Amino acid sequence: MDSCQVLIVGGGPAGSSCAWQLEKAGVNTIILDKRTFPRDKVCGGWITPAVIRELEIDIAEYTRGRVFQPITGFRTSRIGDSQIETDYADTVSYGIRRFEFDDFLLQRCDSRLILGTPLKSLERSGNAWIVNGEIQAEVVIGAGGHFCPVARFLGVKTSEETAVAAQELEFEMSSQQRDSCSIDGNIPELYFCPDLKGYGWCFRKGNFLNIGLGRLDAHSLPAHVSGFLEHLKDSSKVTFDPPVAIRGHAYLIFRETKRNIVGDGVMLIGDAAGLAYSQSGEGIRPAIESGLLAAKAVLAADGIYTRERLENYRKMLTDRFGESESSWSTRVGRRLPSAMIQPLARWLLGTHWFSRNVVLDQWFLHAQEPALTA
Ligand SMILES: Cc1cc2nc3c(=O)[nH]c(=O)nc-3n(C[C@H](O)[C@H](O)[C@H](O)COP(=O)(O)OP(=O)(O)OC[C@H]3O[C@@H](n4cnc5c(N)ncnc54)[C@H](O)[C@@H]3O)c2cc1C
Repeated sequence: MDSCQVLIVGGGPAGSSCAWQLEKAGVNTIILDKRTFPRDKVCGGWITPAVIRELEIDIAEYTRGRVFQPITGFRTSRIGDSQIETDYADTVSYGIRRFEFDDFLLQRCDSRLILGTPLKSLERSGNAWIVNGEIQAEVVIGAGGHFCPVARFLGVKTSEETAVAAQELEFEMSSQQRDSCSIDGNIPELYFCPDLKGYGWCFRKGNFLNIGLGRLDAHSLPAHVSGFLEHLKDSSKVTFDPPVAIRGHAYLIFRETKRNIVGDGVMLIGDAAGLAYSQSGEGIRPAIESGLLAAKAVLAADGIYTRERLENYRKMLTDRFGESESSWSTRVGRRLPSAMIQPLARWLLGTHWFSRNVVLDQWFLHAQEPALTA
């Protein structure tokens, strides 16, 4: 039987970051993914600079042949209202394509890769796991995204959870489409739904255009998405019909999730643990950070991978993402009658101060949280 110390199910940003850290410390890892890479992932592809620092990405190397769009500002608004432009006069984020980014991280992590192979079975045998009846692993890390099969072994039932539902499309624009598209690459546009239960984005990354919308109530998502696409057309932002179909996916936000993330010889990271930031839905940074923290917990457990020893990981996650993440709209919602929230939000979103200091600096850029260091 094949064997490794740590087997990671899922080669997205969470899994590859965890493997990268473990391999650097000399831990023998395998990544198992049901897809072959490069593969696409439904995502806006917006990342904050902390991600680059935490993963020590060499920008000169990354930009060779890959899309890497610097972002220096944002236009924000409530759909239908005037836009507020915030200019940082400096790079505050980047746009990447998941097709390229995830493959880059996976190939450089030095882990053994078993791709195009789904997790079919997971059995406990003494203090080890037997994966797909073929590989023995001391620790299994679930990094398989929202529907991660490892999460099911920890009792997760996705049908009982309230997830954010989001839809997105991305395509390379023709020269004619580029000429008629008024979205500026450096300045992505964010459009909040009038009821504040979600937001849409329109994001140009080099020659690629990414449009999407996410909401807390999945049932009304299709109507909001089509209304948003109409709005982009009516406001002459994107005048042509996108040549690709819109695709959907789901994720959990950290303060809302009740997933059990640790067991004997097993942990969940990234979307499998339900870690996206509540206001922005940014999930790549929490995925990467949880991968790095899980690696730290494995190393600290020093070969004894009981639930008690791995519990340290849960504490590290709470220290990192803890109380500060409780949703602003939920907190305000508890104190104010609902009839007051929409006009108040409309007024606040129309001010430069709130748009910059709260919406962008706190909710989207997490400017107050420094990158994790080794
Ligand atoms: C529409 C939309 C837009 C988003 N936009 C952004 C954004 O702009 N910025 C941002 O930071 N976040 C964004 N997010 C969230 C972000 O995409 C996720 O948080 C992030 O991808 C989580 O990374 P991960 O590694 O945990 O999981 P994933 O990236 O989902 O990777 C999971 C991997 O597991 C594999 N897998 C799944 N099941 C199995 C199985 N049975 N066996 C083996 N392998 C399996 C999959 O093939 C996949 O490769 C967005 C999400 C959505 C839905």
